[in-house]
Amino acid sequence: MPVRRKLIAGNWKMNRLRTDGVALALGIQERLNATGVVPFDLLVCPPATLIWPVADAIRGGGLAIGGQDCHSRTNGAHTGDISAAMLAEAGCTYVIVGHSERRQDHAESDALVAAKAEACHEAGMIAIICVGETLGQREGGRAEAVVSGQLAGSIPPGSTAANTVIAYEPVWAIGTGCNATPADVTEIHALIRATLVQRLSGGPAVRILYGGSVKPSNASELMAVPNVDGALVGGASLKIEDFWGIAASCR
Ligand code: PEP
Repeated sequence: MPVRRKLIAGNWKMNRLRTDGVALALGIQERLNATGVVPFDLLVCPPATLIWPVADAIRGGGLAIGGQDCHSRTNGAHTGDISAAMLAEAGCTYVIVGHSERRQDHAESDALVAAKAEACHEAGMIAIICVGETLGQREGGRAEAVVSGQLAGSIPPGSTAANTVIAYEPVWAIGTGCNATPADVTEIHALIRATLVQRLSGGPAVRILYGGSVKPSNASELMAVPNVDGALVGGASLKIEDFWGIAASCR
């Protein structure tokens, strides 16, 4: 049974300007460095404009930095987009791909998400591939089928435990304050694990994050669920104490 080190990832989404963003990252890094050895990896994913200044500010510390999206191509006529190599050059080691807000707002398909994950791998970064059902799909009894379909289409060939993390984020739990129950999470994470074991030789070692209204008050319970290897955190990642409180629940 592989040991999977937990990953606590903060998705800042379209929030923070430079001064506040750098202060937020530095505040998190200070907590991390003051604590010494910790049993988790800590990651912040600022908006694209803040990646360089945040990376400069935290260089040499233990906090990792990631992008919130990337283009699937290496370069070219793609106005407004950012390539995986650009993110890597700026200091990123992770990129979130297929977040439900991108799947919804930009009509991103599973195939496109897989291509983006592959671009991350080629640039030497870890892709955090997001999957999750909507409320209507869950209420219609299709949560497992939807997640299975997204996994089948969104994980590119060449994915390994070293370059891939899966994030289960039920859409109805994101930003609503209403997290999935441990029973729901147990069921879907077991399904994801079984799929990874079947598809990838390193499947047992791939980390699976839960995301959706994780906060300090529910983190211990959620992080204790089997096959939960960390959290993808939105709102609570914007406050040093809340983000650190979630991470500290992994002890
Ligand atoms: C997210 O956006 O990935 C997320 C999980 O948001 P929140 O924690 O705010 O629900």
